[in-house]
Amino acid sequence: MYNLHDIVEMKKPHPCGANRWEIIRMGMDIKIQCTSCQRIIMLPRREFEKKLKKVLETANKD
Ligand SMILES: [Zn+2]
Repeated sequence: MYNLHDIVEMKKPHPCGANRWEIIRMGMDIKIQCTSCQRIIMLPRREFEKKLKKVLETANKD
C-alpha cells in the first residue's frame, strides 16, 4: 500500500528523466510531485494504481 508523502516509482519515468515521485495529496485523485523537477501531476486513484510500479520509501513506517 501507499501513503501520503511516500516516494514512489511509476511505470513510465517523467520526461525530465527522473522516476521518483512524492505523493502530496490523497483523495479521489492522487497528486504526485516529481522529486527532480517539482512538476505536479494529478491522477484518478484507479489510474494512479495502474501506473504505480513500486513504493521506494515509506514516509510513515508504523
Ligand atoms: Zn520531472
